[in-house]
Amino acid sequence: MFELNGKIAIVTGASQGIGHKISHTLAKSGATVICVARSAKKIEALAKEINGNGGSAIAMPCDVSDQTEFIRTVDSVIKQFGKIDILVNNAGITRDSLLMRMKKNQWDEVLETNLSGTFYGMQSVIKTMMKNKFGRIINITSIVGLTGNAGQSNYAASKAGLIGLTQSIAKEVGSRGITVNCIAPGWIDTEMTSDLPINSKTSLLDMIPLKRIGKPEDIAYTVLFLASNEASYITGQTITVDGGRVIN
Ligand code: NDP
Repeated sequence: MFELNGKIAIVTGASQGIGHKISHTLAKSGATVICVARSAKKIEALAKEINGNGGSAIAMPCDVSDQTEFIRTVDSVIKQFGKIDILVNNAGITRDSLLMRMKKNQWDEVLETNLSGTFYGMQSVIKTMMKNKFGRIINITSIVGLTGNAGQSNYAASKAGLIGLTQSIAKEVGSRGITVNCIAPGWIDTEMTSDLPINSKTSLLDMIPLKRIGKPEDIAYTVLFLASNEASYITGQTITVDGGRVIN
């Protein structure tokens, strides 16, 4: 079950945190993983780790907010491997600010990376997936895209946008054997959340029924499921992985 032998997977934001874990998890299940992020050294180290563990991975440095660069990266994967089966749009950033103080560049950077980056990725892989009548696209949104969050209007807008984007493309490509889904993580222990003040951490924990912070593997296993053949009848969905936070 959930084996990915022979599959070619692109994972963006692979240099650390959730994307790092997703890359390891997909590789362990048999996929060849193309690790994408801006930090070349970190993804090269990750690819080396995966290959050293008997898996298969290569590093391709790329800024997903640059459409030309993303297209070039995808084209070179297709040239090298002949296809792309799985795309995980995981790269994401925050530039938090209250609306009154938010600068246009804070808005633009977040929308360009989180939302446009995903659009660029999906658009560049869709042709090869349609040709092969198979594809798994998994977009990492956030529970903040479902609920909103004071001080994160740019981030919440980008993540809510991903849900509409996912549903629309799921409708466009469903007849070609391609599924498109979102995962909405709650609070996951990574660098992105490491500087939350301790009192915010305590009150956040109070609102999580499962009483623990999420781990990158909680998201990685959900990605693995959605990427597998076993998830072939699931599309256009947003799966919340948050210890029960949004039901509280
Ligand atoms: P991190 O900040 O730890 O990692 C973000 C990753 O995105 C890094 O690998 C970074 O690599 C990459 N990245 C950022 N900008 C770009 C870019 N322009 N081009 C390519 N890669 C880029 O975050 P997490 O691992 O915590 O988050 C991963 C995803 O999960 C994000 O989309 C985030 O919004 C989402 N999420 C996280 C939650 C959490 O609690 N941690 C909760 C809900 C959602 P580099 O800098 O090398 O480019």
